[in-house]
Amino acid sequence: MGKVTGIAGRFGARYGMSLRRKWKEIMEKRYADHVCPYCKTEGKVVRIAAGIWYCKKCKTKWAGLAYTPY
Ligand SMILES: [Zn+2]
Repeated sequence: MGKVTGIAGRFGARYGMSLRRKWKEIMEKRYADHVCPYCKTEGKVVRIAAGIWYCKKCKTKWAGLAYTPY
């Protein structure tokens, strides 16, 4: 029984590590410069709320995904 628990524990640790890597990817994507789909300006798109994006250049506001503008 002790051996089984050990294997399950190791698998759990590995799964947790891949989850953390996935989370890091999401966070990096979230803070990366996005290109405005309307005026194509890069770095002027900001997330003003969950799923709400705003372009400081052309002042367009639109609904996108929670972590990416489209
Ligand atoms: Zn724009």
